[in-house]
Amino acid sequence: MNEVVPTICRLCIAHCGVLAHVEDDHGRRKVTKVTGDPDNPMFKGYTCPKGRALPELHNHSGRLLHSLKRQAGGQHGPISNAKAAGEVAAKLQAIIDQYGPRSVAMYVGTPNVGYPAAASVGNSFLRALDSRMFFTSNTIDQPGKQVAMAAHGKWLGGEPDFEHADAWLLMGANPIISKSAGIPGQNPAQKLKEGLARGLQLIVIDPRKSDTARKASIHLQARPGEDHVLLAAMLKVIIDEALYDHEFVASNVAGFEELCEALAPFTLAYAADRADVPAAQIEEAARVFANATCRHANSGTGPSFSMYCNLKEYLLMCLNSLCGAYTREGEQVTRPNAMLPAYTPRAQALAPFKGWGYGEQLRVRGLTDTAAGMPTAALADEILLEGEGQVRALLCIGGNPMAAWPDQRKTQRALQQLDLLLTFDVEMSATARLADYVIACKQTLETPGMSQSAENIKYFGTGIGFQAAYAQYSGRIADPPHDSDLVEEWEFLYDVAKHMGHELTFAAFFGFAQYVEAPLEVMPLSLDDKPSTEDIYERICANSRIPLEEVKQYPHGHIFPGELKVAPKESGCEARLDVANPFMLQQLEEVAGQDYRAEQHTPDYPFRYIPRRHNNFMNSAGRSIPRLNGGQPWNPAWVHPADIAELGLQEGDMVRIASEHDAIPAVLEADDTLRRGLVAIAHAFGGLVEEDDRYQELGSNTGRLIQTDKDYDPITGMPRMGNIPVSITAW
Ligand code: SF4
Repeated sequence: MNEVVPTICRLCIAHCGVLAHVEDDHGRRKVTKVTGDPDNPMFKGYTCPKGRALPELHNHSGRLLHSLKRQAGGQHGPISNAKAAGEVAAKLQAIIDQYGPRSVAMYVGTPNVGYPAAASVGNSFLRALDSRMFFTSNTIDQPGKQVAMAAHGKWLGGEPDFEHADAWLLMGANPIISKSAGIPGQNPAQKLKEGLARGLQLIVIDPRKSDTARKASIHLQARPGEDHVLLAAMLKVIIDEALYDHEFVASNVAGFEELCEALAPFTLAYAADRADVPAAQIEEAARVFANATCRHANSGTGPSFSMYCNLKEYLLMCLNSLCGAYTREGEQVTRPNAMLPAYTPRAQALAPFKGWGYGEQLRVRGLTDTAAGMPTAALADEILLEGEGQVRALLCIGGNPMAAWPDQRKTQRALQQLDLLLTFDVEMSATARLADYVIACKQTLETPGMSQSAENIKYFGTGIGFQAAYAQYSGRIADPPHDSDLVEEWEFLYDVAKHMGHELTFAAFFGFAQYVEAPLEVMPLSLDDKPSTEDIYERICANSRIPLEEVKQYPHGHIFPGELKVAPKESGCEARLDVANPFMLQQLEEVAGQDYRAEQHTPDYPFRYIPRRHNNFMNSAGRSIPRLNGGQPWNPAWVHPADIAELGLQEGDMVRIASEHDAIPAVLEADDTLRRGLVAIAHAFGGLVEEDDRYQELGSNTGRLIQTDKDYDPITGMPRMGNIPVSITAW
């Protein structure tokens, strides 16, 4: 049995259609090679290095083949999944009996996007326990997108098609590498090349001349953390020069006058001085964007890391709304549904909705549940803070808090204090090494896959998804390694729930029910008749526009016919996009009143740390794979070569990067694409706190530089995770 099978890479949200080369390994199907699939109509043979390394990720020697339990001496020993489920059920019940349901929390990390059943059943499991302490990586990533959408509302006709645009603005986004934000994720470099060839004007705001910024017509290489100031100045130019879409604003926007007033302090001179870019360049960017006929603005993760995440996203939405940068009545819908229910996109606003201040109240910093989910940056405090409601048990699905959460030292203290830490993983991550139970999981190609998650992402305000009614399904195409005992996350939780006697349900859509037109369908999972993952997918897709059975007829994926046009506004629709949300305008006033020169002048910490992505790693996943790390598993500290010389250091030197809060070791690497005065390091690397001397193996943890309770967003609790003042000295 040697065959080439079409399937889906689910390592990131792009969900590329790929070809897996499968060989017989003593009766087991083993993936030996992954290549692009030229017959996939959406991806046309495109993959990235991570996708091509799927065989190594499935077959590497460090992979966990059995679940582990912490023994009395602190070491981990093997345990069957069946036994672990029974023990975990008993421990959870004992914790709930003594401390109440709120003492059990769950954290879901980014990799869950490849496993549609995991987060949905995980959420259902927690609700069955009567706990609402459900956290995801979203609130330490780009929570401002959903919070701003709640404050602003959403245009139900959707965004224009990048492939027809004559201008596009990207704020802190590098989609050529990240496959997120604006440029379609299916070979974004090629899509951008085609756009530029037809005359697209690309405007990029980024302190680094990234792979995407290098192609920009206008690159505002501003100081980090000043994106909202630039946007405010651009909006002011557009209003002052009457370049906005008067008709669209009159019909669909509320709060125009109040916004004009709030923007008064943000003159070109002010923004140019504060962000350190030429005033003429800001002015030109505003004019190019406003004067284009088809345009839109998106953001990436970077801006959210440097404070005012909600305001930045909100002003970006104001820019789109003032310019009417949306798909209008009669125009073709850019992202029609395929594996999601059919809907009628309309040329009208979805009114703003309540985005924070409801649901579960946290015991720290006055935080609550939000449109972006529960504030993950406060979860370590909820574990450490004694008293009623203290979190005693944490279940992690597809996440590595030790690498990803801000304030790593606090995180480690919190995880070590738990009565029960359970994590699902494929290898011994830093979090797994602290866990009481490490449940060994199947890898992606050992589970069925479908493109629905990649379609669903458009509801999160990311500006990505499929630019057509595209869908693909893949069965399991590889078998788990011989003599392994592996499960999928949902299955294990189902077994635990069964031990505890709790019925589970799951929802066909996860999150953002506010703007999914089909009602959120909640379905029971019978305790008497355990379904398969395939059964769950059938039920998730029960209301899909294209039935799952039909999608399965096209193993290479398919673009389904049927043009969808934006329907007229419903008669009597009064909904408007709000550009004067009181909280956002109050934040704008606060920004205008800041002594920014003092804030920018930090002589003891003369550099600013900014986050950065690596093309070969999904956050830190894959860093131990030689094919991906190229012999360098660490994440270097990139600094402009002139700064390195000025420091009297050399590339390759080991340095100490220190913030006011903490310090980490790192290896210097020169990068002349950066602004002077910056140090860029990829996030989510590193081992345990006491393992700094293993930085060349495990990398440097940037979370250590972050303080969670000093500078933080009052809604999402997201602390300052970028634009952090730091010093660089020889180690
Ligand atoms: S872009 Fe994402 S989905 Fe596509 S091959 Fe790379 S990791 Fe996989």
